[in-house]
Amino acid sequence: MLKLYNTLTRSLDEFVTQTPGEATLYTCGPTVYSEPHIGNWVAYIRWDTLIRVLRQNEYHVTRVMNITDVGHLTSDADDGEDKMEKGARREGITAWEVAERYTNRFLEGMTALNLLPPEQLCKATEHIPQQIALVNILEQKGYTYPTSDGIYYDTSKFPTYADFAHLDLTALREGARVEANKEKRNPADFALWKFSPEGVKRDMEWDSPWGKGFPGWHLECSAMAMEYLGDTLDIHTGGIDHIPVHHTNEIAQSEAVTGKRFSNYWLHCAHLLSNGTKLSKSLGNSYTLDDLAKKGFSALDFRLFILQSHYRTETNFTFENLEAAHNRLERWRSIAALRWQTHDTLVDDDDKDSAGRVNGIILSAPHAALEALNDDLNTPEALTVLERAMDAIEAAPLKRLQHSALVEFVAWIDDVFGLKLAQSTPDISDEQKQRILERERARENKDWKASDTLRDKLAADGVYLKDTPGGTIWNRL
Ligand SMILES: [Zn+2]
Repeated sequence: MLKLYNTLTRSLDEFVTQTPGEATLYTCGPTVYSEPHIGNWVAYIRWDTLIRVLRQNEYHVTRVMNITDVGHLTSDADDGEDKMEKGARREGITAWEVAERYTNRFLEGMTALNLLPPEQLCKATEHIPQQIALVNILEQKGYTYPTSDGIYYDTSKFPTYADFAHLDLTALREGARVEANKEKRNPADFALWKFSPEGVKRDMEWDSPWGKGFPGWHLECSAMAMEYLGDTLDIHTGGIDHIPVHHTNEIAQSEAVTGKRFSNYWLHCAHLLSNGTKLSKSLGNSYTLDDLAKKGFSALDFRLFILQSHYRTETNFTFENLEAAHNRLERWRSIAALRWQTHDTLVDDDDKDSAGRVNGIILSAPHAALEALNDDLNTPEALTVLERAMDAIEAAPLKRLQHSALVEFVAWIDDVFGLKLAQSTPDISDEQKQRILERERARENKDWKASDTLRDKLAADGVYLKDTPGGTIWNRL
């Protein structure tokens, strides 16, 4: 049974979908105005694991993720600049070009991190009519009012507005005396549609019944989630920073339109710290995947580093911590490579018991790991279970390891953790296998020169040998 911590109920809830066997999910996607940094990637790694765990639980998953390519302002209070226009000024290109550049960068990063593509990846700029339609309905139902800079949502008309984030609206009101926007009726009110500023030609702007402008950031998620997944989602995901404003506003808009609950489960992941503090450009600690690569770390090293902590706990990134994850991944790869040197039928009679024991550990590890994952995606615990199986494999003589058990084990880890162990340790050619056997014969005959020559030839092919008491093993690391 899968249990997930639901922000809506503030409790660990059994996961039950609206349609048995079908799970619908919406993930708030990136704002594509600059190079994504490691802090941005955390949520996508977390939710990729969620998808994989849902699939392990035999759900057919339909996920929608948006690309925010318009309307996300530098301030949550509906003022400040559109991040896309800011990116355009910085790079001397149009906002459209900025969107294209960083959407591509995001997709490249997704591939490098081995993140599963969502069934529907959709851009805010391609769903303007749907967003205008929502504002229209909200207007007809009396939830909106105009100001000089846009159409706003009147949060006082939605009595449960404060519930989701447990907001203290009185404190908000008191704290809002210095509110920049004097025309807002309530401090939490937010823009559904912003007008293009007088005399300014924006790169991105559209006609609407209220005037030329662009949609508010929160609106796109409501519009695209409901467009593709219907009025009620099974799961909506995001970062914890989305709870008080972005997700609260999504709920207020969507539920005011449909009169139905917007999402049954809300999952939020904690932030990443870098060197013990918040990531920031000025501190120079908001590394990109390219920065990690320059120091010799792969995106998959980073992926494993993130999975080593629970999604609801704040994780601290340091290069020492990343190095530990890198070493773990290298070790797992070399253990995964052992599967090519094992057979299903080579067990001596004497070894049957201990062979049965070790292969039993290997075969039962996925089940135990899934149990941990079904307990609110406990990835660190699941990895510990797998580590114990890795230890058992490493300690066992090769002849006691069953090929099919190892193949299954490695494939399961890749399915659920996306570490590409199988791909990093491909089989070797028959000719290379022949050379390994020839070298073993040379060693038996104490022909060290021939043995070394064969070893060097294999190394030149990227196949490295290690002589162990259980026999000679090879890997590609
Ligand atoms: Zn969103």
